[in-house]
Amino acid sequence: MPFLYLVVFLCCCLLLGCDDAVDRLPEPPLVIFTPDPAPLRCLTPQQLREEINICEDLIPKGEFGRCKPRELVPHYITIHATRNMNASANAARHASVLKMGRITGGAVGYLSWHFTVDCGEVRQHLPLNEMGHHAEYGYKPGNLYSIGIEMCENEGNDMPATFERTAKLAALLMYEYRIPLKCVVGHIFWTGKKCPAPLLDDGCLGATWAGFISRVDYYDRCLKFGSQQQKRAENKAG
Ligand SMILES: [Zn+2]
Repeated sequence: MPFLYLVVFLCCCLLLGCDDAVDRLPEPPLVIFTPDPAPLRCLTPQQLREEINICEDLIPKGEFGRCKPRELVPHYITIHATRNMNASANAARHASVLKMGRITGGAVGYLSWHFTVDCGEVRQHLPLNEMGHHAEYGYKPGNLYSIGIEMCENEGNDMPATFERTAKLAALLMYEYRIPLKCVVGHIFWTGKKCPAPLLDDGCLGATWAGFISRVDYYDRCLKFGSQQQKRAENKAG
């Protein structure tokens, strides 16, 4: 019997230990924004996914940025911007260089992230249960617990349309992974790097970031509205 107690005690410690790791995750700064007063659209996750136009274009399994895969547990969404102004540096181009292992750096020799967004589409580079190397060096919370999204800044790319598509993608991921709005953060949150530059004011979080968060909030509320309406319709039918 004492042995059984010991086993139960050790299991409890393990479980509590796991909770502790998540409880100790850093708290993002409070962002004060004005909610968009526009009427809500009645959106299903599938409708929003179609609008976003996500093309799965993964780095080959076991290679380059996926050479030492480790599990991702999504608690945050980290927004970046590429700082690559070259006219050809759109989402498809980023997918292609990631697949060739041409973006080096980080603890495994290659940088990697989950999505690249431009004004016309989103390319997905990693499955969402695999950690990327984009927010911090190595196996730290910014990589272990966050989905990485890069926004293109290439010449000719429509930036407001890119921000809007990114806000929709962030809202969809919040919905699918039950991530709270406060956990949509900029790269700056993890390391102080001035990223995503086009959404910062003088290198800091300010009105531009608050405006972006307001768009994410709007689409998040549209999805919640859509799901409420669907439940209501189902109840009526039942
Ligand atoms: Zn970044």
